[in-house]
Amino acid sequence: MKKRLIIAIDGYSSCGKSTFAKMIAKELNYIFIDSGAMYRAVTLYCIRRDFISDKGVNTRGILDELPGINIDFIYNPDINAHETFMNSENVETEIRSLEVTSRVSRISQIPEVRSRLVEMQREIGAFKGIVMDGRDIGTVVFPSADLKIFMTASADIRAKRRFDEMKAKGMEVDYEEIKRGIIARDIADENRDISPLRRAEDAIVLDNSRMTVEAQMSWVKDIIDKKINAG
Ligand code: C5P
Repeated sequence: MKKRLIIAIDGYSSCGKSTFAKMIAKELNYIFIDSGAMYRAVTLYCIRRDFISDKGVNTRGILDELPGINIDFIYNPDINAHETFMNSENVETEIRSLEVTSRVSRISQIPEVRSRLVEMQREIGAFKGIVMDGRDIGTVVFPSADLKIFMTASADIRAKRRFDEMKAKGMEVDYEEIKRGIIARDIADENRDISPLRRAEDAIVLDNSRMTVEAQMSWVKDIIDKKINAG
């Protein structure tokens, strides 16, 4: 039987990590896990319970209810993809809202939130044959992953991609606001005390500023083939 890998994809916001990870998983017939969706789901829960607002964060409230927040990824055959469920509710669309996006870095700084989600991520990864994307997958969740990729692209290019994506969905968007949001999340993710975003020493850097998705795939396929054939 072919060796099954754990592939960790980390990097900055809006670099196309999930798109890339999804394509790799499809190619190899692996499970794809979007760890950011898990932090987003917890953030959505906190917004609904009023544990986070412009007034601040009610950490006590979050910690009391954290054990009761369950997150699953359930396959939807209509779209041939997994969707994020929080306590049995499909929240896939809602976790991508601007409100969740602007608050998630605050929630992902809470140590107990991180340890609970990391535990869930390791349980899923126990099966191997997995591609997981996030900020700390190669450094904390799976430090001995078979392949680690650290993705980056210029802030302008990332903002432009996100802008086009949201426009295409018919959303009212402002380019400068998106760019400011991306930079703010980079800063928050790189500077938090626990599991800050950083490149694992053994991660391969992929700057996809000027690469198509196809070019990224052909680049990674060679690397994966070598890993699998190395036994
Ligand atoms: O990947 P995505 O942009 O959906 O992630 C949303 C947020 O979740 C990030 O900005 C970061 O604060 C947090 N996150 C994290 N660790 C991960 C994945 C995401 O802290 N492994």
